[in-house]
Amino acid sequence: MKQLVLAGGGHAHVQVLAAFAQQVLPGVEVTLVTPQPVQWYSGMVPGVIAGRYSAHEAQIDLAALARRAGARVVLDAVVGVRPDARQLRLASGGELAYDALSLDTGGELSRDLIDGAREHALFVRPLHAFMHLWPRLQSLAARQPGLQVVVIGGGAAGFELAVAMRHALVAQARVTLVAGNAGLLPRFPRGLRHRALAVLKSRGITVIADDAVEIEPGQLRLSGGSRLPCDAPVVALGVQPPAWLAHSGLRLAADGFIATTASLQSVSHPEVFAVGDVSCRIDAPHPRSGVYAVRAGPVLAANLRAWAAGRPYAMYRPQRRALALLSCADGTALASWGPLSARGAWVWRWKDRIDRAFVQAYRDSEPLVSLSLR
Ligand SMILES: Cc1cc2nc3c(=O)[nH]c(=O)nc-3n(C[C@H](O)[C@H](O)[C@H](O)COP(=O)(O)OP(=O)(O)OC[C@H]3O[C@@H](n4cnc5c(N)ncnc54)[C@H](O)[C@@H]3O)c2cc1C
Repeated sequence: MKQLVLAGGGHAHVQVLAAFAQQVLPGVEVTLVTPQPVQWYSGMVPGVIAGRYSAHEAQIDLAALARRAGARVVLDAVVGVRPDARQLRLASGGELAYDALSLDTGGELSRDLIDGAREHALFVRPLHAFMHLWPRLQSLAARQPGLQVVVIGGGAAGFELAVAMRHALVAQARVTLVAGNAGLLPRFPRGLRHRALAVLKSRGITVIADDAVEIEPGQLRLSGGSRLPCDAPVVALGVQPPAWLAHSGLRLAADGFIATTASLQSVSHPEVFAVGDVSCRIDAPHPRSGVYAVRAGPVLAANLRAWAAGRPYAMYRPQRRALALLSCADGTALASWGPLSARGAWVWRWKDRIDRAFVQAYRDSEPLVSLSLR
C-alpha cells in the first residue's frame, strides 16, 4: 500500500476526506495528522462569539469524517519535514513516513510581532485555543464592568471579531479596534470601508489607524507614542509561515510559504502537495483567505487520486475576484465583490446559508454540496 499523509484538517482537506468517503482511494493508506479531532470553521467563529451559533454548529468533526473516509487519524502536529527522506517529524517526537504528503495546515500567528504580546495578549490563532479562552474573557467582562478590550488587526477577521465581541459583551466592555497604519480593511474597496466604519461607529467602537508596538499590563503603546488603556488585547493580525517550514528543505516563496504550482504541488518536491494559507502559488499569487483554500479542495482531491493512479494532474486557477461576506453581528452583513459593496439582512442570510451548508456537508455522509461561493 502507498502511504498518503494529509497534514492539517483545513478547508481543502475536509473536502479531500469527504471525496475519499464517497469513493475510496484504491491501493493507498491515508493518514490524517491533526492536533485536534475537530476543526472550527473560521467563517462562523464571529457568529459563535456574537451568540448566533452554538460551538457545535461551527465545528467539523475531523475524526468522524476521517473514519468515513477510511483514514487513520494521528492526533499530533507536524513540526518538521524531511522531504528527501519522505518523513514527517511530529510534536510527540514520532516520525511518519509518506509516499505523498498533502499540507493544509494554515498559517501561524506569530507571538512576537508586538513586544509583550506573548505574555499579555490573546491570539485568535489557533482558533481552538482562542475559542477555549473566549468564555473566560466573557466572565472577566461580567466581573469587571468597563473592561477595555482592544482588538489588534484591521483586516476582515479584526473587524468581525470587534463587532462580535461588542455585541456579546454589550455594556460590560469598551471595545477598540487598532487597525494598523494602513487603516481599516485596506485590501477592500472604498465603499465597503465606509460601510464598515459606519458599523463600528454605530456600536461605539473606536478605530485607531496606527500600529500597536508594545503591550504591557493594562496598556498598549502605539507606534505614534500614545498609550491606550487595555485590559484584554486580542491579536487578529494576518498569518505568518509556520516556523517549521524554514528548515524543511521545501522550496519556499519570497513570503516564506510553500511555493506551489498550478497542480498544487511543491515546486521542489512534486510528491508534496500544499494548499490554503500554508502555500503560495508563485504563478498566480492570491490573498490568504478561506475562499481560496475551499476552491482548491476539489482540485486537490482529484490530484491526490491522479497521483495514486499515475494519471495527469488537474490545474487550479484561483479566481481573480473573491466574494467577501463580513458579519456585523446584528443580523446584517457586509458584502464586497470587486468594487461593489452592500450591507443588509439579506447579505447575512446569504452568508449564513453558505456557512451552514459548508459545515453541514461534512456532518453527515451526504454528498458534497456546491461550495463555490465561500
Ligand atoms: C475569526 C476569523 C474569521 C475568518 N473568516 C473568514 C471568512 O469568512 N472567509 C474567508 O475566506 N476567510 C476567513 N478567515 C480566514 C480563514 O480562516 C483562513 O484563510 C483559512 O482558515 C485558511 O484555511 P486553511 O485550509 O489554509 O487552514 P486552516 O483553516 O487554518 O486549517 C489548518 C488546520 O491545520 C491544523 N494544523 C495547524 N498546524 C498544524 C500542524 N503543524 N500539524 C498538523 N495540523 C496542523 C489546524 O489545527 C487546522 O485544523 C477568517 C479568519 C479568522 C481568524
